[in-house]
Amino acid sequence: MTDTATTCRLCGSKNLKALFTAKGFPVAQCQNCSFAQVTRAPDAAELEAIYNEAYFGHNKYRDLRTLAVENARRLKLMQRYVPAGARALEAGCGSGFFLEAAANTYQMYGFDLSAVGIEQARERNPAIAKRIQQGTLENLPLFDGSAFDVICLWDTIEHVWQPLEALRGLFARLKPGGYLLFSTPDIGAPTARLLGTRWAFMTPPEHLSFLNRQSTRYLVETALGHRIVFQASWGKQVNLGFLLYKVRRVLPALMPAALLRPFERPPLAKLALYVPTADIQYVVIQKTGN
Ligand SMILES: [Zn+2]
Repeated sequence: MTDTATTCRLCGSKNLKALFTAKGFPVAQCQNCSFAQVTRAPDAAELEAIYNEAYFGHNKYRDLRTLAVENARRLKLMQRYVPAGARALEAGCGSGFFLEAAANTYQMYGFDLSAVGIEQARERNPAIAKRIQQGTLENLPLFDGSAFDVICLWDTIEHVWQPLEALRGLFARLKPGGYLLFSTPDIGAPTARLLGTRWAFMTPPEHLSFLNRQSTRYLVETALGHRIVFQASWGKQVNLGFLLYKVRRVLPALMPAALLRPFERPPLAKLALYVPTADIQYVVIQKTGN
């Protein structure tokens, strides 16, 4: 068995540089392809502790307005490349918010590893409930067996231990010339470099695999042989209350609690801002060959 502590899971190089330990997990970066990886695999109990029922009441699902803005941006990107009516699969559909946002435009299918997520996704999307199934990237649901025109993974690939194998499995389910879109934190972004272990997305063992622009090109073009047609790192919508809470966590001296209080309640807490952190990478890939 390959020693995951010393071998890059993307390119197989042994030339890894230790970055830091985050939440008890060592993180190293490959000096060949620049892929960054958590080097100790979480055990079943550690994973169970993350993907339990509470996960879906997590911050990232709580602010529905910022999530709606994010989903509109994802849908718009998909529409640039994929005509309406196409057969579309969302891998890692969570509670089904993107399925709901896209269901009027595309023939949506979705899967997620979480039984709780699937239940919520079906309730939210009763018309397509049969097309929402439990499954993982390692064990993809078959659905009706036909290939997809487009597959998307929003903030999902960073949760996977072996992104190369995960994407290979998805490309096998995509029609020739079809598109695969994903978003993932960009560990090459200035905010990521500056904040290190305090970067908002540096959350092992929830996040295990960290791409930047260069390792994404290695993954897609060198390792998989497909073509990147769009690649950009964008900021995000956050609500003001949540943003100030985060600032206070990092720099408590700058942000006395009393100053924060009015922003913890509506209407101020609901104000959404675009924060130009440029640390979420959006990638559109066209499948070449069969
Ligand atoms: Zn590598």
